[in-house]
Amino acid sequence: MSQPDWSQLAEQKIAAVRAAQGAWSALPIQTRVEKLHAAKLAILARGEELAELIALETKKPLAEAYSAEVLAVGDIFSYWLRKGPDLLKPRKGDVPSLEMPGKKAWIEREARGVVLCISPWNFPVQLPMRTVAPALLAGNGLILKPSEVTPKSGVWLVERIREVIGPVIDVLEGDGAAGAALIEAMPDAVVFTGSTRTGRKVNVMCAERGIPCELELGGKDCAVVLADADLDRTASGIAWGIVSNAGQNCSGIERVAVLAGIAPQFVPKLVAKLQQTAKDVPDLVTPMQRAIVIRQIQDAIERGAEVLTGGLPVGDAPIPPTLLTKVPRDAPAWKDESFGPIAVLEVHGTEEQLIAAANDTRYGLGNSVWGHDTTRAIAVAQRLRSGMVWINNHSFSAALADLPWVGIGDSGTGMTNSPDVLHLLTRPRLYVVDTNKDVEPWWYPYGPKLMDLMRILVSRQQTGGLGATLKTLSALKARMKEIKL
Ligand code: NDP
Repeated sequence: MSQPDWSQLAEQKIAAVRAAQGAWSALPIQTRVEKLHAAKLAILARGEELAELIALETKKPLAEAYSAEVLAVGDIFSYWLRKGPDLLKPRKGDVPSLEMPGKKAWIEREARGVVLCISPWNFPVQLPMRTVAPALLAGNGLILKPSEVTPKSGVWLVERIREVIGPVIDVLEGDGAAGAALIEAMPDAVVFTGSTRTGRKVNVMCAERGIPCELELGGKDCAVVLADADLDRTASGIAWGIVSNAGQNCSGIERVAVLAGIAPQFVPKLVAKLQQTAKDVPDLVTPMQRAIVIRQIQDAIERGAEVLTGGLPVGDAPIPPTLLTKVPRDAPAWKDESFGPIAVLEVHGTEEQLIAAANDTRYGLGNSVWGHDTTRAIAVAQRLRSGMVWINNHSFSAALADLPWVGIGDSGTGMTNSPDVLHLLTRPRLYVVDTNKDVEPWWYPYGPKLMDLMRILVSRQQTGGLGATLKTLSALKARMKEIKL
């Protein structure tokens, strides 16, 4: 079968959304709020249908499709519709009135234009929603490129919104080539969520074209268990962090570092919890990912790792929740993203060693610290190298729209969620009105009084005070006289 002409399709889509964007951004923000609220209600009214579609495409349990995707649509829209208008209000600029009299400045946040959102398959609705809601509210048009692995959920989401707000949002279903063609068609900003490898390519393409982009990439999160952790709750939380969504989470727990003193009590509890979850863990979404995870387990075993629970799957059965220990640090199971229901456990004698273990990764998305004394746990958290650290929990904040989802290192250069995303989705536009009727002291002709004035202004920065202000006024007067001679 011949490939579609992605370039032509991408250009058509971007042009059509661009044509609709002007009128959309010209609407009063309150009108956009009302329309997006109607879109939210239209989606939630068919929430059951959406959850079933997501569960079918991603194989995730219906409960997870509901909690992490359908509910997220409501939460993310609600946050932006409630907070967005204030966050997008113009800001008054600070202009010194003594040297620059009569000037009024303000900064408006202007929509970028057409935002391209490229999304992976593991959360096919929640992840795009983090960009869709703020981008549209700010007055942008948006094109979604869902993953070819789970396109229907993304298409469904866009169709419901488009039915309410019109052609300012669209979707292009296709593989990586479609994503690349969309970047070549020159959107005004790109939000990419996906693997570190593809993210690098997207970054290069955007840099070559001068398109601002945010990258949300993979992770290798570590859970650090301190001596005073509540062992039962911690075992439950870490088991969830390893296994939920079959481990196909950018911030899934893939490494566990435990203090030696509590390991004999803690490790059997964690193993028991993982074994309890086995029946709820579906197979991985793609055969390729399954092969990667199986290879990591196999390789670790060949290098002498001990399997505390799980291990290689039997035949075509799903990969069981797996906990490995004594894995060398250069093994892929320790150093590469797994993206499956497996984790590597290390036991250490000191907190220093736990911190060093957690930081021994090129990724830096999330980490968690588990301990009763939260002051102590926070002190450990502050020394972990990652964009996010949760104390006594892990990764649950992904759909909380006020909280940044952010990584460092190989986990990306950008963020989704939180008011900070407005830096990418809008640009500041400065307006200055000058009501000063006089010429300005720094205009031509230059002369010695201008230098006097500059020196006095510099010394005023150093000393401050009334005396310096009086000297400035007198130097200004002399300079104005010099200009008018
Ligand atoms: P990929 O990087 O393979 O794909 C991500 C998206 O990019 C897909 O839509 C893909 O299309 C598209 N794409 C592929 N090639 C190109 C290209 N050359 N130009 C433009 N777009 C392209 O990631 P996965 O879908 O496999 O998702 C899993 C990864 O995502 C994991 O590494 C995970 O950690 C990460 N992730 C990060 C998150 C975060 O917030 N930090 C959240 C969730 C996941 P197609 O699929 O059709 O090929």
